[in-house]
Amino acid sequence: MRLRNITGSREVIAGSPYVVQEAVLPDCPGKWKKIFGNDAPIQIEIGMGKGKFIHTMAKAHPEINYIGIEKYSSVLLRAIQKMEREELPNLKFLRMDAEDILSVFAPGEVDRIFLNFSDPWPKDRHAKRRLPSREFLARYDVILKKDGKLEFKTDNRALFDFAVGELEPAGWQAEVITFDLHGDEELVRGNVMTEYEEKFSAQGNPICKYVISRTGMAGRRAQVK
Ligand code: SAM
Repeated sequence: MRLRNITGSREVIAGSPYVVQEAVLPDCPGKWKKIFGNDAPIQIEIGMGKGKFIHTMAKAHPEINYIGIEKYSSVLLRAIQKMEREELPNLKFLRMDAEDILSVFAPGEVDRIFLNFSDPWPKDRHAKRRLPSREFLARYDVILKKDGKLEFKTDNRALFDFAVGELEPAGWQAEVITFDLHGDEELVRGNVMTEYEEKFSAQGNPICKYVISRTGMAGRRAQVK
């Protein structure tokens, strides 16, 4: 999602109390509990877009701290506006490229990772940029606590098939997998829809989802690569 450049979005972000500012990011690894002021678990959404999913999750689970990560200012601005309408103490935003995620979280600091409708990067030469690629899984392996889980949803079947194919070589395993989330009575219970999910499911596209964890080989595989 790349909205038209919105004049002033950078200035709004720079002055927003909901955004952890770029200048303090180097101090953040290992400090997230202190930043939130409590010991609650930390869950993050990478590529949150306008923030509907993470805002709904944070409202429903005040006992969990949420961090929404988004690369583009014009998109993050929408999530900030949502927070201005309904402030939540357990939600913070980062404007950054997820490629640099290792510089903001300490090993094992994150309890759960959500990837929702990640950009497909359809060209083979851009496969490394896909958020569920083995390169990103190696990064998630560092920041996610040992028994932590990662959830991924998309309507893009080619991207989902790619993501499933990355699991074994990266040392992860699927605990849950469906090619039609909304058609699965059990799995859809409690599902929080994202902006893209609303749009694409309304068009009749089935939604794929997996929940994954490490097999115990993740770190070793990543080093071998
Ligand atoms: N998750 C939202 C949803 O499901 O409605 C938005 C999906 S949109 C297709 C993907 C979002 O991920 C875009 O807002 C894009 O800017 C962001 N994104 C893509 N690559 C990213 C990266 N490397 N780091 C941070 N954000 C990224």
